Amino acid sequence: MAKLIFLGTASAVAFEGHENTFMVIQGEQSSILVDCASNPILKLRKAGIHFEDLSDLVITHFHPDHVSGLPNFLMDMWILGRKKELRIYGSQHTISRAEKMMALFDWDEWQNIYPISFHTLPEEELTLVLENQEIRIHSSPGDHLIPTLGLRIESIKNKFAASYSCDTNPHPNIVRLAAGVDVLIHEAAGPYEGHSTPAQAGEIATQAKVGKLYLIHYSIFGDKTAESITAEAKKTFSKEVILAEDFMEIDFEK
Ligand SMILES: [Zn+2]
Repeated sequence: MAKLIFLGTASAVAFEGHENTFMVIQGEQSSILVDCASNPILKLRKAGIHFEDLSDLVITHFHPDHVSGLPNFLMDMWILGRKKELRIYGSQHTISRAEKMMALFDWDEWQNIYPISFHTLPEEELTLVLENQEIRIHSSPGDHLIPTLGLRIESIKNKFAASYSCDTNPHPNIVRLAAGVDVLIHEAAGPYEGHSTPAQAGEIATQAKVGKLYLIHYSIFGDKTAESITAEAKKTFSKEVILAEDFMEIDFEK
């Protein structure tokens, strides 16, 4: 059965024990990476996932804290002898920049690299990103400083559903994307343009009538503590609130 593993949970500035936000959905047949921060090859290894089992990479938006690991990750898999195709998905804004970034590394000269295909997603609500035997993913645009896509991830076998807000102001698109999901993973970076506070994440969770709220993309500094962040979200969401930590898992078996 599939599960989601957080590979990083910090906002733009990583801190002790917390890498920038990205995650992997591990299925029985294949795994799907969502964003590509820090050093994915190490994080996947620690999560017990072989790089060759990774079939797809969905990039939510082109900010450094979400894509900085991409060139190294693609190169690492080439050096390690990956053979299987890797499919990469993102908005036109994201994919065009990912291709430009790789071009700066002259990757067209990397001999015998495994096949990589880019898939451009329209910035429209509930766009089907991908579907395999186990997992179906839809995307909807959020409201960030640049084009960004939130995700709805569904298990085909048992209808378990999780949504990830990505970086966004509180937005009705995310409420509709996350409607009725078992788990909403919402960013809680704070009161900054293009982001949400924990209380706003709680409001979105309440409006979308989700089962459980995970707060992600947060930083702990100053007088902020793990307890104070979750307490803020609990004021606006009456069900369970969990602060996501690196390598915490969400089991899709419920
Ligand atoms: Zn961002």
